[in-house]
Amino acid sequence: MVVVHVLTHASKPHQAPGKVTIPGSRYHRVRKTVQTICVLIFILLPLFDIMRVDIPRQRFYFFGVELWISEFAILFLTMMFLWILIAAMAMIYGRFWCGYLCPQMIFSEAANTTENWITKRVNRTCSRSSDKTRWWISKAVVYIFGIPPSMFFAFVFVSYFVPPLDLFHRLMSFDIRTSGGILGAAVTAVTFFDFAFLRQRFCTAICPYGYLQNMLADKHTLLVHFHDPQHMCINCAKCVRACPMGIDIRKSSHQLECTHCAECVDACSSILGKMNRQTVIQYGWGDDSSNFVEEQKWYRRIGLRDGKRIVILVLLLIYATGLAIAIGLRKPVLVRIFPNRSELYTVAADGQIHNHFRLLASNRGHQQATVTLSVSGLPSATITGLDQNVVLAPGGSIEHQFDIASPVSGASLGINHITLHAQVTPTQPPLSFDENFIAPFEAPAKP
Ligand code: SF4
Ligand code: SF4
Repeated sequence: MVVVHVLTHASKPHQAPGKVTIPGSRYHRVRKTVQTICVLIFILLPLFDIMRVDIPRQRFYFFGVELWISEFAILFLTMMFLWILIAAMAMIYGRFWCGYLCPQMIFSEAANTTENWITKRVNRTCSRSSDKTRWWISKAVVYIFGIPPSMFFAFVFVSYFVPPLDLFHRLMSFDIRTSGGILGAAVTAVTFFDFAFLRQRFCTAICPYGYLQNMLADKHTLLVHFHDPQHMCINCAKCVRACPMGIDIRKSSHQLECTHCAECVDACSSILGKMNRQTVIQYGWGDDSSNFVEEQKWYRRIGLRDGKRIVILVLLLIYATGLAIAIGLRKPVLVRIFPNRSELYTVAADGQIHNHFRLLASNRGHQQATVTLSVSGLPSATITGLDQNVVLAPGGSIEHQFDIASPVSGASLGINHITLHAQVTPTQPPLSFDENFIAPFEAPAKP
């Protein structure tokens, strides 16, 4: 949102003559800076457990918190939050994701830049060779250059699903037998294919998000427009040459391929700026290409232009708050206690009454934890069949049967209300479970 705010101010089409936008690359610079940050984020997210799914262990990591697949509420809120974020971004800022943030687009543009650079160098170095020979040399060098980045980005991508360290070991041992190794090899091959051949074709032919964005856009969504009421365009076609998607924005603002990257804005600005004219390509909200931003209120400038947008942002805020609360309330060690009523009670040889219970505990944290149970409400009751401190390894789960035992004289006939307490170390608020201790309903007959 902040970025778009900057963008919408980056050039000002309604400025007075003589104050034209400086020719050059304002959007391009912003875009390349944002893209560089995105690549770093893309690489760092899985490495630091900020966001990744650990398929082998069935875990989901979100901002350092290890969520178990069984934690449905948090997973649900996370998915809803991300989904609404994506929908809100597409509705308000159109294909801003594609033009500025998408790793696939960044990778494709980097592949194009690399290929152009290599082709120029080969043409210069092998100027005496035939066109065909130079073409083959260029392609061969591009493909060789493409292998290391393909391997690296495939590694990062697979790290979103397999622990990075584990993946690194598989890579070092050339593992193509296990599922993780096969996945790594397959993604490397696909990434290389993308680098070498597919590039932006993926965006227009395969990517579902591109189609989704077009479905979510409405009459207020950010677009790039060709707007030339004074016939300033000199038909230089620099906007077409600058377009990473190879389209001509002058034909329509609603082309499926357009990622709203604004490279054409910079291109036009650089050409017409030399003639002291303003660019005729510009960002605009919705179909009205003249509604550029400077005279409008701040909330309209950042895209909040109708109630629908306010609603979706409120919804986003609600889910973000719910998620923050759910994560805040989350306890690393989950303890549950259930009575085992296959037998209401048993009487042991020593005359003690026993009730059976089941302890289930999971340690979702990163350090070893211990669970200590105690019982109150029945002074004579003791816990039997369970260690004093039940040890839980990080990521581990246990299930234990145990008994609450009491002498006949210590319990009332029938149902006794008791409370089981679970103390977790390292510190977690103590847990208590209200349970029943069942004793015989009639006093034993006197001999
Ligand atoms: S037409 Fe302009 S905004 Fe659209 S993809 Fe091409 S350069 Fe980017
Ligand atoms: S860069 Fe500007 S002037 Fe040149 S063809 Fe495109 S719209 Fe016209």
